[in-house]
Amino acid sequence: MTANLLGLDSGGLREFCAGLGERPYRAQQLMRWIHRAGVDDFSAMTDIARPLRERLVQEAVIAAPRIVQETTAPDGTRKWLLDVGTGNAIETVFIPETNRGTLCISSQAGCALACTFCSTGHQGFNRNLTVAEIIGQLWIANRALGGGSVQDRPISNVVMMGMGEPLANFESVVTAMQLMLDDNAYNLSRRRLTLSTSGLVPAIDRLRDACPVALAVSLHAPDDALRDELVPINRKYPIKDLLAACVRYIEKAPRDFVMFEYVLLDGVNDSVEQARALARLVRRVPCKINLIPFNPFPGTRYRRSAPQAVARFREVLMQADLIATVRKTRGDDIAAACGQLAGQVQDKTRRKLRLQQRTAAGNGAAAGRAATNELEAAE
Ligand code: SAH
Ligand code: SF4
Repeated sequence: MTANLLGLDSGGLREFCAGLGERPYRAQQLMRWIHRAGVDDFSAMTDIARPLRERLVQEAVIAAPRIVQETTAPDGTRKWLLDVGTGNAIETVFIPETNRGTLCISSQAGCALACTFCSTGHQGFNRNLTVAEIIGQLWIANRALGGGSVQDRPISNVVMMGMGEPLANFESVVTAMQLMLDDNAYNLSRRRLTLSTSGLVPAIDRLRDACPVALAVSLHAPDDALRDELVPINRKYPIKDLLAACVRYIEKAPRDFVMFEYVLLDGVNDSVEQARALARLVRRVPCKINLIPFNPFPGTRYRRSAPQAVARFREVLMQADLIATVRKTRGDDIAAACGQLAGQVQDKTRRKLRLQQRTAAGNGAAAGRAATNELEAAE
């Protein structure tokens, strides 16, 4: 079978080379060509002897997902729609800022966790992405943006915050992240690589041991009753367990705090009382809070909080000595902002249908329970 070398980390490439009877340093050469130079053609690998290059052409490929569409917003945000086969497409977003450039990467085609305010959650779930499809997003964006050395390349930071729940695709996400960190590939520091999770507690512990990178946790509510509704996985891993996992994580994390994400939904979770409750809740966790103005998408029942409500909420947190920032909304005119990524998902979970039924019946709790059951089946 033809091997796709794009999805192999250093161990995988060494094994592949051993299989060809080649020495381990070949693996390093291959990795540099593929990820540093962004090459997908073996004949361009000039320091590899011709007979081996010819053999590689026979036995291997370097294959990233096909670019279906590329869009640039007036603010410079770029979005790629990538075909991952069988009618599924995922999205990758590059956000340029003054001192850094952040690439937001997807981990699944869709998402089974069905957070009620998230466009991907509304799309349902098809499958986990492979390592090649995950690292392929960085490979594609890096090539499109002109690559360059670590110091001056446009992509300085990566966030696992695109479509999907990265910790529900643990093995592939960790292997892809190892490649992002590898000196011979993208050489990102652990501090510049952030994984965002809706709170899969056992997987947070596994990540701590396997590949501790900066951690962002989607909190969104100051109490279990509301979080059960907004982030249905909370029924399985309630806030208390989640916060305990965050504290354990910090012991090995590259940063000495966890970033809590909190999407502000008008009249749902944005009151002064809720800000106070949030401040009390996270008191014992070294953290920063990133407030995200809700990004609307077709069919949603939520509205973005008014700027005054956002400012007031932040003020309460600051008064409680918490560091709270408001995330600038980028790329929303090309539907590339947080939670707007929809791609194209051939839903296997009948989520869309159930969500439509639920909206019609106004029954949030039942759908939340269904999502939790589904995840159990998927785990
Ligand atoms: N599944 C992971 C990572 C992807 S979502 C997670 O849930 O953390 C990345 C971030 O975007 C999360 O904090 C998520 O809650 C937030 N988000 C989802 N939908 C949103 C929306 N419509 N508006 C603003 N932020 C949203
Ligand atoms: Fe999945 Fe994250 Fe969206 Fe929730 S917010 S549905 S976990 S992608």
